[in-house]
Amino acid sequence: MLKKIFLPLMLIVLLISRAEAGTWSPELRVGILSGVKQVSLKVSAPCVMINAAKGNVLKKIPAGGSFVVDFEHLKINAVEVRPEKIPIQELTVEIDGKKYYGGVSVNKGKDSLTVINLVPLEEYLHGVLAKEMSPSYPLEALKAQAVAARSFALKNRGRHVKEGFDLCATTHCQVYIGVTDYDSINRAIDETRWKALFHRTGKSDRNTGRPRLWTGAV
Ligand SMILES: [Zn+2]
Repeated sequence: MLKKIFLPLMLIVLLISRAEAGTWSPELRVGILSGVKQVSLKVSAPCVMINAAKGNVLKKIPAGGSFVVDFEHLKINAVEVRPEKIPIQELTVEIDGKKYYGGVSVNKGKDSLTVINLVPLEEYLHGVLAKEMSPSYPLEALKAQAVAARSFALKNRGRHVKEGFDLCATTHCQVYIGVTDYDSINRAIDETRWKALFHRTGKSDRNTGRPRLWTGAV
């Protein structure tokens, strides 16, 4: 009886192997600001500013360098700021004084800018758990939240594609506040690393031929 009820709806926790995970580190685009005329940015390590459409380097920014991107002076559709030498998860960027892991993209719209944090999934979670739950919650609750938040982010990538990013930073998607450092949250994320909830559909993805893993909400 139990089998009959649970099998069709079975949610399988997949532990992605460490070998795969070396290359499996999806970079999320999280919308931080929209409708602004300018934004001030500061980077923790040497970076390059690139033309997002063509990939060519526009300028180099030294460690600790701060600068302003202004709607009037931005002549191309989008610029990205990425680290010059280190992995993106080791960079932090201050967006109007607030610190985030990863890089940043500034997109020019019709009459304003959209500012997007380019952040790998695991680093993104640090900025979600601290706000979606209190760091003082029991470890097992934080671990459950880490798996749920990771699953939600994967499932909802591209939710804001028309605005140029994957997820917003509000309750519409998941509240995200950038860099946090709480022992309990760091541990909850580390101990559930690469674990997410998948619902097998039995169908294949048209493009990759691999099983399609997502249906409906997790
Ligand atoms: Zn949203």
